[in-house]
Amino acid sequence: MPADFDITIIGGGVIGLACARALASDASVLLVEQHALFGSETSSRNSEVIHAGLYYPSGSLKERLCIHGREALYRYCDTADIPHRKTGKLIVAPYRHHPELARLQTKGAALGIPLQRLDATSIRELEPLVEAQEALYSPETGIIDSHLYMQRLAQDAERLGGVLMKQTGFVSAHPEESHWRLSLNTDDGLCNITSKKIINAAGLHSHRVALACGTPSGQLPPLYFCRGHYFSYQAKAPFQHLIYPLPEKNLAGLGIHATLDLGGQVRFGPDTEYLNTTEADYSVSPALRDQFASAVRSYFPALDAEQLQPAYAGIRPKLSGPGEASADFALIVDERDGIPPLLHLLGIESPGLTSSLALADEVRQRLITM
Ligand SMILES: Cc1cc2nc3c(=O)[nH]c(=O)nc-3n(C[C@H](O)[C@H](O)[C@H](O)COP(=O)(O)OP(=O)(O)OC[C@H]3O[C@@H](n4cnc5c(N)ncnc54)[C@H](O)[C@@H]3O)c2cc1C
Repeated sequence: MPADFDITIIGGGVIGLACARALASDASVLLVEQHALFGSETSSRNSEVIHAGLYYPSGSLKERLCIHGREALYRYCDTADIPHRKTGKLIVAPYRHHPELARLQTKGAALGIPLQRLDATSIRELEPLVEAQEALYSPETGIIDSHLYMQRLAQDAERLGGVLMKQTGFVSAHPEESHWRLSLNTDDGLCNITSKKIINAAGLHSHRVALACGTPSGQLPPLYFCRGHYFSYQAKAPFQHLIYPLPEKNLAGLGIHATLDLGGQVRFGPDTEYLNTTEADYSVSPALRDQFASAVRSYFPALDAEQLQPAYAGIRPKLSGPGEASADFALIVDERDGIPPLLHLLGIESPGLTSSLALADEVRQRLITM
């Protein structure tokens, strides 16, 4: 019996949707998303920044896919009419000749990422309210309407023949001859379908999905949930550019930065808080205001802390624990003998949004050889 689909993608966040679009022209594709809306988990709980690709370990997937993904994403935004803006970004240092700023500049030059070093006077000309002795200006950094981006990916995938199902939860998968038999939970109850290959793009739930496919836990890296909170700033936007402090140690986060949305409103965040659970809890405690105010005042001394309001939180699916060196995106093929192809995408934290088109292309290349 032929399988119902060539490829089934579990998860309709930005990564699953980008994979569906990349694969649908060559294969019959099914995507299943448990919620009523695509992208309602991590893909709509982030900073919506198109990163230049400066921060990531040399030679890592994060670095390569971010740079290629950024270029592809700007091209796609132009052709698919997705609201976005190359705002540019300042990475600010509290004193001159900061070694980390110098390191980032050298790295940027090696990677071909345009950067400009600014002194205190030039910083003040660009952003009069920012207090810093030195900065790097990254003109390639920008912002995107991530919701419209995901809508366009879904429309493209469907136009190419992909079947995208919402409110359809993946329950389990078992190998059966040369394909997988998947059990899915729909509004009408449980149903079964068959698929030659599976891509697990379930974000925070990817480990659970992997186990429900029978992948032994020993093949999976450990998973940590690391929450990032955001506070909106109710006052008139004090900046025209994105303002980032220097990144945190081990790249746990990029530091509490200021981003703009496309309406020009400023929000601050995210911080980093490792959770003791792998259950998603998106609460933002108002008690964090003081911590935010003190971090932000290091580069924006005129902050009016009364105008900081708890906004939302997102959770990073991290493969590195507190204090450990930052882990790369993990694309893991289940290596059990004789089973049909099964690819797990794990630890797709930042810069996953920027990297999404390049990551989908990487997945397509890897599936060809599986
Ligand atoms: C605080 C924060 C800030 C960030 N900022 C940026 C940024 O500025 N720029 C950037 O490039 N990246 C950023 N990122 C990273 C980016 O948001 C993620 O890499 C990206 O959204 C991951 O997408 P995803 O599709 O893998 O995961 P998700 O969006 O979580 O999608 C996974 C989907 O799988 C579905 N699913 C799970 N289990 C099942 C199941 N059993 N059955 C069916 N469906 C299932 C879920 O419902 C979900 O919709 C940030 C991340 C965080 C947390």
